[in-house]
Amino acid sequence: MIPVAAPTVPTIPVPVAHEQRSLTDLWVGVLRALSEQIGRSQFITWFRDTAALGREEGKLVVGLPLPMALTWHMEHYRDQTLLIARSIDPAITQIVYTVDVGLKDNRERSPDILELFPEVRKRKVAGRPEVKLAEGIVSKILNPSYMLENFVVGSSSRLAHAACQAVAREPGGKYNPLFLYGGVGLGKTHLLQATGNAILRQVPRSTVVYTTSEDFTNQVVEAIGQKKMEQFRRRYRLVDVLIIDDVQFLANRERTQEEFFHTFNALYEDHKQIIISADRPPAELQLEDRLTSRFERGMIADVSAPDYETRLAILIEKVRNYEIFLDMAVLQFIAEHATRNVRELEGILMQAVALYELEQRMPTVRSIADIMRKLNKDEKPQEDPGFQVPQTRRATFQEVIEAVSRYYSVSVNEIVGESRVREILIPRQIAMYIGRHRLSVSYVHIGEIFGNRDHTTVMNAVHKIEKALQDDPQLLREVRALEQELDLV
Ligand code: ADP
Ligand code: MG
Repeated sequence: MIPVAAPTVPTIPVPVAHEQRSLTDLWVGVLRALSEQIGRSQFITWFRDTAALGREEGKLVVGLPLPMALTWHMEHYRDQTLLIARSIDPAITQIVYTVDVGLKDNRERSPDILELFPEVRKRKVAGRPEVKLAEGIVSKILNPSYMLENFVVGSSSRLAHAACQAVAREPGGKYNPLFLYGGVGLGKTHLLQATGNAILRQVPRSTVVYTTSEDFTNQVVEAIGQKKMEQFRRRYRLVDVLIIDDVQFLANRERTQEEFFHTFNALYEDHKQIIISADRPPAELQLEDRLTSRFERGMIADVSAPDYETRLAILIEKVRNYEIFLDMAVLQFIAEHATRNVRELEGILMQAVALYELEQRMPTVRSIADIMRKLNKDEKPQEDPGFQVPQTRRATFQEVIEAVSRYYSVSVNEIVGESRVREILIPRQIAMYIGRHRLSVSYVHIGEIFGNRDHTTVMNAVHKIEKALQDDPQLLREVRALEQELDLV
């Protein structure tokens, strides 16, 4: 249960103009430091539309636009915010929060963090997918995020991962060539590139070429066309590590196979490392025998679909990269139902991230199930859908209360409890309202669940929300968001 600190409802002294300016400057300073200290998506999610609203001696009043952000700020950012604020103005000794939903709709009242702190773009690899290492030798740029360290090892990939580590330690050593095989989306490319990255890290000047069998074919075709075959061969002999992804596509390309065969032999004899991947083991590839027998000389390891625990571990690893907070129940649900391959697992996670970052909605099991069901529908019918998602059932009243609790960062106990503090009272009334309107729970039964309250009390509460919804657009948005999340609209 989320402990909620006694709600602070600070009285906000209305600042005069020059004070407001210095408050804004102070807050921009705090935001700048925060933007450097925390992940960007976290920063945007939690600090957009925030403002320093007032100052009373050592107390700095920080306004938050969303009720649900209150607990999160108190638990995750209060100390950090105070530390920074104090470094700017040593007189500040305390941060107090207030929820001011008006901040969301009035752009003038808070610094525009997207404009003030634009994303510092990392050098994009996608725009320059290839590098020319020498005349006639082209390599894809290795994706630096593929590392052996962030590859989650499960029983389905232990051997393959260990082999890659061994190759990274001693390229051209015992495991040469290294041949990895397995179905799509299971991590072959990740392992291949990670091995290349690891070798480059140790010996930055080595020439590591990563190419797909299709690119290699194109290079051969081009060299033939330009009558530069000799040059092509000579150049390739200078490579220290040759990585060729998806060699199954060399089938029926005799000329390319022949060139590859010669290159392979030359490198092999020179103790240069060769790493290959394919979707099936060498014997099943429709390639020349002399080539497959070369592949079989070295180390062969398969990568198969990860089990539940590994899938869950992969999700946790990926979540770390995205720097977002997700409920374990959501991750478990994804891991349970997306069983086909890791790419699909990542795809669903990306959707959850989008929900969180773009719509500021905490992904729930229910919203993820929806996403998965939709993805399932988009699949071509003849393909194995990979995951079965249980049919939607109607949310229970308990789930309504839990959703309200999460949304407003108020514990379930508090919602059904006695407190009449506004921060708790409103969520309580909203839970009652949704229970009555969407689930048709009787007033009497609602009363019983909410600490044995009299049914007339419940009725009053529900009427109050009904009325408030008429002229409070913010409240309407919040209730609709909750109902949507619960699949009740
Ligand atoms: P393949 O080449 O076998 O089709 P990829 O290497 O492209 O598969 O993997 C698809 C995605 O899944 C990549 O983003 C990769 O980082 C990720 N992935 C696969 N297996 C793992 C794993 N064990 N740990 C972490 N990420 C993984
Ligand atoms: Mg691949």
